[in-house]
Amino acid sequence: MTVVVQVSKVHPEPGVIVRAAAIIRRGGLVAFPTETVYGLGANALDPDAVESIFTAKERPSYDPLIVHLQDATQMELVAADIPDLTWKLAAEFWPGPLTLVLPRQPRVPSAVTAGGDTVAVRVPSHPVAHALIVAAGVPIAAPSANRFGRVSPTRAEHVWTDLAGRIDIILDAGPTSVGVESTVLSLVEATPRILRPGGVSREALARLLESVEVEHHTIVEGGTAVSPGTTPQHYAPEASLTLFQGPRAQVLPAMRRAALGYIEAGERVGLLLVEEDLSVFADLPVIREALGSVDSLSQIAQRLYSALRALDEAGVEVILARDVGTTGLGLAIRDRLTRAAAGGVVVMSDGSAADSPDSAPSGPLTPLAS
Ligand code: AMP
Ligand code: MG
Repeated sequence: MTVVVQVSKVHPEPGVIVRAAAIIRRGGLVAFPTETVYGLGANALDPDAVESIFTAKERPSYDPLIVHLQDATQMELVAADIPDLTWKLAAEFWPGPLTLVLPRQPRVPSAVTAGGDTVAVRVPSHPVAHALIVAAGVPIAAPSANRFGRVSPTRAEHVWTDLAGRIDIILDAGPTSVGVESTVLSLVEATPRILRPGGVSREALARLLESVEVEHHTIVEGGTAVSPGTTPQHYAPEASLTLFQGPRAQVLPAMRRAALGYIEAGERVGLLLVEEDLSVFADLPVIREALGSVDSLSQIAQRLYSALRALDEAGVEVILARDVGTTGLGLAIRDRLTRAAAGGVVVMSDGSAADSPDSAPSGPLTPLAS
C-alpha cells in the first residue's frame, strides 16, 4: 500500500522525515520532491533496494540512476578519481539542478550505474530532499518517480497516477519549482560534456568552464527527429506530439494548418502554447494549454510536464507544440519536446515560406520524420 503524506516545502516536519528515512534504511521506496521533478528514492548502497526501483518503474536495467547526496563531501562515498574541476562546479552549482558523471567507487551497486564504470551524482536544493538524505544517513539513488516511458512527475498527484500500490510512501510538497530534470554533465572525458540539458543552462556552465560540449542532437534544428527511433521515449505523452521549430511568423500559420487538418479528420487536438500565442487559436475547437509568457522560460519549464499530462487527461490524440529556442532553459525544453515528438519535428525557415503562408494553406509541411 502507498501512503501520501503532506510535508512543508520550506520547513519539512521532522516526524514525516524520520518516518520516510526509516523506510529508506530498511530498503523501501520513497517518492520525494526535488527542485527539478519528484524522485523515486532508495538506499543507493543497497542493491536489493535499488533493484526495486527498476521493478516499480518498469525501467530497463540499462538506464542508470542519479545518486543524491547531502553535500559535496559525500561524493567520495560513491565516486573515485574525482577531477579538480568537480569541486569548482560543486561550489558554484550545488545544491542545485546539476548532475555530475564521475568514475565510480566499486562499492556502488552495479544496478545504480547500469553496469557502467561511472556514477552520476547530485546535491538537491529542495529542503525535503535534503532533510531526507540527511536523516537516512545514506546516499539516495533516485530516478524520476514516473513509470518508464511516461512524462516526469512535477506534482505528487503525477506520482500517485503512475506508482500507487508499487511504492511505500509519497511525500507531497506541492509542485516542483524547476520542472525539468537536472543537467547531466560528464566529467570523465577530456572536455566536459552535457549529456542531457536541464535546470542549469549551458551558458551558466560555460561561464565557469574553459570549454563545454553538448550532445549534438539537442542543439541542431530538427534535432533527434532525424532518427527518432533511436531516441529513448523518455518524456512522451500518450498523444502523438509534433514540435514546430522556426520563426513565429512561419510556425503559427503552419500549426494552424496542421490543427485544421487534424480537426477535419475528426481528431481531438491539443496545443502547447506560450501565452502570447493563445489568441491565434481562439476560434478553433482545440484544447489550449498555456505554459507561460515567452519571456519566462523558467515558467514554461515549470509547467511543461503538468501541461503534457493535462492534455493526455483531456483525451487529445494529437498535440502540437511550438519550440522556444535554445537560449538558457530553452535547450532543455527543446530536448524534452523533441524526445516527446513521436509525431516528428517540423522545421520552418524564412526561405521556405517565400510564398505567404496564409495564401498557401495547402502547402506541404516539412516533416523530418513521422
Ligand atoms: P532520471 O532521473 O529518471 O532522468 O534518470 C536518470 C538519468 O541520469 C538517466 O536516464 C541518465 O540520463 C542519467 N545518468 C545517470 N547515471 C549516469 C551515468 N553514469 N552516465 C551518464 N548518464 C547517467
Ligand atoms: Mg526519468
